[in-house]
Amino acid sequence: MSVFNPEQALWETRREFGEHGGVTPSIARSSTFTVMDPSTMPEIFRGIRGPDKGGCFLYSRHFNPTVDVLARYISAMEGTEFAVCTASGMSAISCALLQLCRSGDHIVSSDTIYGGTHALFRKLLPEMGITTTFVDPSDTESFEQAILPNSRVIYAETIGNPTLKVADIPRLSKIAKRNGLTLVIDNTFMPMVMTPAKHGADIVVSSMTKFINGASDALAGVICARRDFIYELMDLHTGRVMLLGPTMDPRIAYDIIQRLPHLALRMREHCKRALVIAERLQEIGAPVFYPGLPSHPQHNLIQSMVNPEYGYGGILTLDCGTIEKAEAFMSILQNQERYGFIAVSLGFYDTLMSCSGSSTSSEIPPEDQSKMGLSPGLVRMAIGYTGSLSARLGQIERAVRKVGLVS
Ligand code: PLP
Repeated sequence: MSVFNPEQALWETRREFGEHGGVTPSIARSSTFTVMDPSTMPEIFRGIRGPDKGGCFLYSRHFNPTVDVLARYISAMEGTEFAVCTASGMSAISCALLQLCRSGDHIVSSDTIYGGTHALFRKLLPEMGITTTFVDPSDTESFEQAILPNSRVIYAETIGNPTLKVADIPRLSKIAKRNGLTLVIDNTFMPMVMTPAKHGADIVVSSMTKFINGASDALAGVICARRDFIYELMDLHTGRVMLLGPTMDPRIAYDIIQRLPHLALRMREHCKRALVIAERLQEIGAPVFYPGLPSHPQHNLIQSMVNPEYGYGGILTLDCGTIEKAEAFMSILQNQERYGFIAVSLGFYDTLMSCSGSSTSSEIPPEDQSKMGLSPGLVRMAIGYTGSLSARLGQIERAVRKVGLVS
């Protein structure tokens, strides 16, 4: 049963007004909400009344009007019935999984995932009796082979962080359905560029800290799914978002709403520049990896899944071989060429670069890093869109040559 609703995906047609007809939403900063008739309160607690049933809000850890506006926009963008926003990407991922899995359950996950998610699966969830088998996302059959009688979830990222391996979402969806599992996809790297629900994902999680917010000034996350799953997450007695409480502040929600109208423009420019830079690096013989290059082993697969008019994402990697060379390259680019920042995260207007093995993937043990194809000298570059593209090409090419990656 698909959660994707193609009419929803036309999110630009959504209309959300502020109080008094404002073209921007109002910021509802109240932590609590009054009722005119005291009998309404027990009805809200019994689930008979609520934000979607007569417009009665209760308390902002439950639902908040401004945060709900953002949730409606993002669920429309992802083509799902509904969404709930959270305080970070990690809280979206952990709450979704804790809602789906109980002690004794099992997850089959791609081994190429963000280091924090890897640590959640490898260290924290086992303490709660939930175990994970990691498999290579470019070998789709391996997911099915790893399924156990107690498996509940298949988990992958659209484009794996940081090795940029592509998950075959339509085939993973078929495997999940055949075996009665839920397919959870992290779409942090590809908002608008890819719509995992369209290809059969049941639940789409994202860190909105990255491209969706786009300014590197806030943390935020979202879980997009069927309405009943979102209401499970918000259940007063058992809801993981409701009870663990990773609540988004309405002021953050407002800021992100204001940046959504230019997300499409930003994503197109991130994608365009990443492709041009990857092509140039490949042309001069630098060890570049990017799903938009025909040399990427899963180029045809990604081409079959991306939405028209965007591209292949804003992230490329450069394998410098050793950590020393990687650090020298990043230092030359940031400190001599004055292009980009040596910083974790992605989706900023300037380029952000980090050596993944010793930073955002350092939670993954070295032997697992090498199994997933992560070299210690791999630099992940989240390509920004400031400055002239030809100047940026010159800066990167000079840094690559200076550090001896090409002669
Ligand atoms: N998912 C991916 C793919 C990420 O890269 C990150 C962070 O880098 C996260 C989730 C976690 O997001 P947050 O930092 O907003 O908790």
